[in-house]
Amino acid sequence: MSFNSVIGQKEAVEILQDEIKNERISHAYLFSAREGSGKSKLAFEFAKASFCEEAEADSCGSCINCRKMDHKNHPDYKVISVLEGKSAISIDQIRELKKEIAYKPYDSDHKIYIIEAAEKMTKEAANSLLKTLEEPPSFATIILLVEDSGKLLPTIVSRCQQIKLRNVDQKKIKNILLDKGLSQEKAEIISLTAAGSPGRALEIIEIDDYFEQRQLIYDFLKNIKSKNTIEIFKITEKISSLLKADFPCFDLLSDWYRDIMMIKQDYLEAVINKDYFEELKGLAAELSLQGLISDLELIAQSEKYIERNIREELSLEVLFFKLRQPDQE
Ligand SMILES: [Zn+2]
Repeated sequence: MSFNSVIGQKEAVEILQDEIKNERISHAYLFSAREGSGKSKLAFEFAKASFCEEAEADSCGSCINCRKMDHKNHPDYKVISVLEGKSAISIDQIRELKKEIAYKPYDSDHKIYIIEAAEKMTKEAANSLLKTLEEPPSFATIILLVEDSGKLLPTIVSRCQQIKLRNVDQKKIKNILLDKGLSQEKAEIISLTAAGSPGRALEIIEIDDYFEQRQLIYDFLKNIKSKNTIEIFKITEKISSLLKADFPCFDLLSDWYRDIMMIKQDYLEAVINKDYFEELKGLAAELSLQGLISDLELIAQSEKYIERNIREELSLEVLFFKLRQPDQE
């Protein structure tokens, strides 16, 4: 694998290749892009290309440095991320990074440290990192990966060279899915719901019964206004168990209401769930824009509660009862 394996990020790759070629690698980078757009992959390929002894501004895949990178045992490369079972990057992790990064590189003339989900550093961790970013060892590069650079301390952002990754073109994602053997219709739907993120699309196709569960949820939403209490309890139970299996229920819920809103505003080409177009169109005629906006807010709020483990089933019940309420103009 080399830079060729980074999908749809031509501009970012060119910038980074130029810096390797001209031996002008920065001490700190900030890669920002939504989840699944290939930040980690880009950071890995950049590091690998910078270590490679053979290829120019890319990796050969066979020199000792490339092989160590592929076997994940290159001593001059390290990835720091939120530890399993934790919700933040702690100051201890950053202290360890600072201690290690001060040692001279072993196999190369420089070393590269990656901090994944850097917005998840605690305040203390971020402040501690700031000092290293201000005075980095001459041979060290730190790459911060974030979804939204607005969530980092501005003083950290200003120390980094920013590389913004693009959302990947839907047709490109669709072609990847077609190559994997998906039907036209399924590839179209998944590439649209992935919203520019090939990683997201590849995750979805790994879910065995994605389309069955999607149908179950959408059949419910189609007629939610006429569902009785027992039916709401049943879907709550179902969605609760799907969430435990990491099924993207909330993406489906918000895509549904977003689609209705798009149709209502006549942005027909922006509709994701094209296979439900007639149903969505019918709902667009019945629901008000204001009602749809508040439905989307309810969904986002409920997702936040559940992420924070606040009474999952209750949050879902409340959500569905509210979504069922007649639309108020
Ligand atoms: Zn190599």
